Amino acid sequence: MVDRYATFANSAAGKALVKRLGLPAPTPLRRHSPGDPLVTGPVLVDAAPGGRLAPIVRELLDEAGVTLRDPVAAAVEAGASATPGRLAALIFDATGVTSSDQLRTLYDFFHAQARTLLPSGRVIVLGTAPEDCAAPREAIAQRALEGLVRSIGKEFGRGSTAQLVYAAPDAPLTSTLRFLLSGRSAYVSGQVIRIGPGSPGSDVDWDRPLEGKVALVTGAARGIGAAIARVLARDGARVIALDVPAAGEPLAALANEIRGEALQLDVTAADAPDRLAGCLRDRHGRVDVVVHNAGITRDRTLGRMSAEQWDSVLDVNLSSQERINDAILELLPAGGRLIQVSSMNGIAGNRGQANYATSKAGVIGLVQVLAPALAARGVTVNAVAPGFIETPMTARMPAGLREASRRLNSLSQGGLPIDVAETIAWFASPGSSGVTGNVVRVCGQSLIGA
Ligand code: NAD
Repeated sequence: MVDRYATFANSAAGKALVKRLGLPAPTPLRRHSPGDPLVTGPVLVDAAPGGRLAPIVRELLDEAGVTLRDPVAAAVEAGASATPGRLAALIFDATGVTSSDQLRTLYDFFHAQARTLLPSGRVIVLGTAPEDCAAPREAIAQRALEGLVRSIGKEFGRGSTAQLVYAAPDAPLTSTLRFLLSGRSAYVSGQVIRIGPGSPGSDVDWDRPLEGKVALVTGAARGIGAAIARVLARDGARVIALDVPAAGEPLAALANEIRGEALQLDVTAADAPDRLAGCLRDRHGRVDVVVHNAGITRDRTLGRMSAEQWDSVLDVNLSSQERINDAILELLPAGGRLIQVSSMNGIAGNRGQANYATSKAGVIGLVQVLAPALAARGVTVNAVAPGFIETPMTARMPAGLREASRRLNSLSQGGLPIDVAETIAWFASPGSSGVTGNVVRVCGQSLIGA
């Protein structure tokens, strides 16, 4: 679907009108293309006194070829000049904040730098997860960071995003910082991400991180699933693209395009878990990345919803995934990645989608149960929760609701399938060994359910 409003709002005539009427102004987002630099300008890294991460971050950005702005010079410049648009990203290490009065250091930093970001700029605040803090006052101050970051996501505008990353002392940061700084995270904003301990992934080829890996993507014939398959293949994976037999033609075309394998299978079929496990075992002996993306909607308010509509949505979106996991999890080696596709409606609920929201909330439960259970095996479990993404599924929405859904987020536009796919590729990366148990919304910081 073409977003006609966004096209108009970015035209010469539209820009002026949109500004005069105070209408949403969707900025074209910077998205990643192979060969793009990580960021489009210098990055400023600063820290509250006692921060443990700033030196590590500076070093890894330096290794990645990023130009770092000196914090003292930047503070002087910001005070002396009102010219905005000079920095690609602001990273603030708040791990040294141990009481609420010290939150003032964040005000001082962001107040001075609020107008210095380039379009599609990035704000990243680093902290310690409240549950990992030694003292109650530290935990309270660290929890407070969420309010600041979510507000920045809503305030800074011009396609910029803001995230809070809670990092354990020995958390590998590179993969997550690379994702958040780059155009790969264009539609991810206002998120709280937890990184636990893991191996640093120092030998990761950041252009082809999945080289030699086998990845399964369900519901891959079209929409978000097709984008996931393409991105994982771009990143080097051998992709097994699965979809129902009725989607055999587009599925075969996609598999050809990405030099992967097509597998026609209805995930709800009684023999699907065994057939899938057998196929993975016979063809590859293992599967490194599993992406449960297949999903359906059958919308009706509860009073009008048939039992068939309830059952089919629960079965495709949740129960079949549990049955399949039971059969294939043993094929995931150490370093394996289990990735679920939930939904914003699984977080917020939605009128007319009780079946869908129940299934997608269950998917979040699955992450919460399996992430700790599989941690000892070195397998990570995470979910994306997309908001409004432009796909055949959302193209079927009533026009008014579709238009409202597009605008009700901090970026004032719908996301693209590639935005969900890039987030999944970050979870899948060998560098993301510390990223587990996360549910990351790809929703442009939707105002619903936040
Ligand atoms: P889509 O309808 O465009 O594609 C879904 C794919 O899943 C189709 O190719 C379909 O054939 C396949 N599928 C359905 N039932 C299957 C089954 N029983 N076995 C195997 N394959 C099956 O949907 P989409 O918009 O690309 O959504 C992909 C996922 O993202 C779904 O889980 C959906 O719930 C989720 N999601 C989408 C949005 C959005 O805005 N589009 C938002 C939140 C979550």
